[in-house]
Amino acid sequence: MANFNKQHPKKRYDKDDSRQRPNYNKKFNRLKNAPLCPLCQKSVRDLYSAITHESSNQPAHFDCILKMLREMNELSGNEKICYLGNGSFGIIQSRNAAGKLRFFIRKRLNYEETDPVPEWRKKLL
Ligand SMILES: [Zn+2]
Repeated sequence: MANFNKQHPKKRYDKDDSRQRPNYNKKFNRLKNAPLCPLCQKSVRDLYSAITHESSNQPAHFDCILKMLREMNELSGNEKICYLGNGSFGIIQSRNAAGKLRFFIRKRLNYEETDPVPEWRKKLL
């Protein structure tokens, strides 16, 4: 096994590494320019999952919006907030009915206006 390694010098791998570097920098720059989340002030790296923050109209982390909605709405033990799609969240209630667990949307929260498309998201389309 040791002989096998000697026959394939390390230099070959170094060459491959330098070839990948330009793309690496490009990715890094993109992350550096990421907008700041109005809720936690950290950069929003994954804009595809971001949600428009209502009062600032800026992209916010999906998790930050979810956390805010949880604080705004009182949830009981068998309820949780889920993303329903198209900018809507829902308070989902689970109930045990005849031995089966069933889910109901107790309240629909239309959070994000998706029509018209928010300015920041147009760049992604
Ligand atoms: Zn955030």
